[in-house]
Amino acid sequence: MVVSASLFINDPLELAEILGISATPLETVHKIYPFRVSRYYLDLARQHGAPLLKQIVPDLLEVQENETPIDPLAEEVLSPTPCLIHKYPDRAVLLVSRECATYCRFCTRKRKVGTEKMHMEENHFLEALSYLRATPAIRDVLISGGDPLLLSDERLDYILKSVRAISSVKTIRLGTRIPCTLPMRVTEHLVAVLSKHHPLYVNLHFNHPAEITPEAEAACSLLANAGIPLGCQTVLLKGVNDSVEVLRQLFYRLLAARVKPYYLFQADLTRGTAHFRTTIDTGMNIMRQLQGNMSGMALPTYALDTPGGGGKIPLYPSYLQELGSQCLFHTYRGQTGKYPNTTWPVE
Ligand SMILES: *Cc1c(COP(=O)(O)O)cnc(C)c1O
Ligand code: SF4
Repeated sequence: MVVSASLFINDPLELAEILGISATPLETVHKIYPFRVSRYYLDLARQHGAPLLKQIVPDLLEVQENETPIDPLAEEVLSPTPCLIHKYPDRAVLLVSRECATYCRFCTRKRKVGTEKMHMEENHFLEALSYLRATPAIRDVLISGGDPLLLSDERLDYILKSVRAISSVKTIRLGTRIPCTLPMRVTEHLVAVLSKHHPLYVNLHFNHPAEITPEAEAACSLLANAGIPLGCQTVLLKGVNDSVEVLRQLFYRLLAARVKPYYLFQADLTRGTAHFRTTIDTGMNIMRQLQGNMSGMALPTYALDTPGGGGKIPLYPSYLQELGSQCLFHTYRGQTGKYPNTTWPVE
């Protein structure tokens, strides 16, 4: 499939006209943070209202908050070469695309995604490959961007083949929001290309049950039928999905589409996204209500990517207290009990 320009709206004036809203604030924001939406996602958002519209319509609040850092996860500091982020011992993120099918207003890489600030020259890709070759401790490469699936099938094939050729790299993960924002991009030809490079995992990004349309399900089916394990990284967003019922439905529908909910992220402290942030208490309360009441397969790990590049940490409500040689536990139903914190026979 050729990703043609007619699939998208890039002009905030056109958006203002379609939605019947004032263009001025949209243009003010657009000067700093790029705007784009696929016609497919905009149609869906118009049917479902606020929870989807909030994710795509530029908001003046984006340019009014200047206290938080532009790069809270210190990704630039952790980049040994411009297109590679190496934060953990055994895995690294390889940025291969500057663009996305839709620019999410809450994006953590808002500082550069979709702009000239995101450098994607061929020599950067080659430098990243050299670094991976020279760093055999990296066994898991996450291909990200921007959205890698906006690249041509041929380019993806070349990228995957180049990474696969590094013998220390055992698994490849690809992160994409395309099955949510432009599901028709997932074609038979694309999945045939992807499946040449197994073991390949694909992590998707859905935030609301209304995003799981028949088209999105068809895209997930094509990927899953090609033997690609699918995960989902959801961001907890105020006014979008910060409720037990919305997330319960989202996780059940993902599971039915053969997508394992992998992470539920607490919002990052990225400049221009503060209005999307919930408290950690909100997330903990939601997880507490889902735990035990939903299939464990449907439950993601609620996680915080710690500011400063410290890495992700799970945010678990506590079910256990240590009392000397006993552990006191609380079940999901609120009952309590004890479990010995000892072994047998006593040494
Ligand atoms: C999230 C992330 C990873 C992958 O983390 P997992 O917990 O293994 O999914 C790797 N590198 C960077 C820089 C990341 O932000
Ligand atoms: S698809 Fe991902 S990288 Fe692209 S704008 Fe959305 S969150 Fe950012």
